[in-house]
Amino acid sequence: MKVCYLIGYPIGHSMSPTMHNAAFQELGLNYGYEAVSVEPEGLTGFLNGVLRRPNVRGANVTIPHKIAVMKDIDAVDPEAAAIGAVNTIVNDGGILRGCNTDGRGALEALKESIGELNDKRVVLLGAGGAARAVRRAVELAASLREKMGRRHAEISAAPFDETHLRRGLKGADILINATPIGMHPDVGETPVPRHLLHGRLVVFDLVYNPPRTRLLKEAEEEGAGTLSGVEMLVYQGAEAFLLWTGRRAPIGLMLRVVRRALGG
Ligand code: NAP
Repeated sequence: MKVCYLIGYPIGHSMSPTMHNAAFQELGLNYGYEAVSVEPEGLTGFLNGVLRRPNVRGANVTIPHKIAVMKDIDAVDPEAAAIGAVNTIVNDGGILRGCNTDGRGALEALKESIGELNDKRVVLLGAGGAARAVRRAVELAASLREKMGRRHAEISAAPFDETHLRRGLKGADILINATPIGMHPDVGETPVPRHLLHGRLVVFDLVYNPPRTRLLKEAEEEGAGTLSGVEMLVYQGAEAFLLWTGRRAPIGLMLRVVRRALGG
């Protein structure tokens, strides 16, 4: 059996094993997926001692290792290098290659619900790994459109206070929360006061636990469109699945098992 890991610290309760094991089973692949807690001091040892083994096909990487793994692997693909973080590793005959599927995952989720991003004004909250991946993906998608003679998307990044949020959100089409604000167990928190939300917005919350965050509930009540982090989780997972197995992931099944596991 080929094994894929999720490595992080602390690892907490992750949806990835449920999602990937269901997908491997559905396609009859002799693969297994396991989450392991790897302390920062043990990261190099895990990568060299476990991840390079012939029966290991790769790993997903989460907080706090997304940047640290880059110094211990053999190659980093251009997209991950541009983002500055690796969330997926592929083991090809003992050679470890780092990739980043977060940006593509976010873009797929956005395109499914919004369509093309040209002409859209985007307000992005957060400046961490996920925010950088989303920003690059949106900019890349937009620059392709621009080459085709269409207007490009505009992304604004501003200090996180009410004055800047009010100004940014007034004419915005898309609000993306790439911070952990509102994530379980702090489900009563929201990054944006309700009175700044409006019905012309689509609000995309990268947080997937809970699937309906306070931000999304209030956005919906203000007449805005909403998109939860569950779709991005599944699309970024599907990209990793393709890298490891060469097969297209059963996205519908993955969405169903994640929603069921989250009680949605
Ligand atoms: P990260 O690297 O730790 O970045 C978090 C960002 O949020 C940082 O810019 C941080 O600012 C900011 N932030 C945190 N708490 C804040 C607060 N109270 N007020 C203002 N800013 C705050 O984390 P990440 O990897 O980018 O992940 C961010 C979120 O996206 C997490 O909830 C994660 O679960 C989610 N995510 C979802 C998916 C998916 O597939 N759905 C994929 C990746 C990530 P400072 O650095 O100044 O603290």
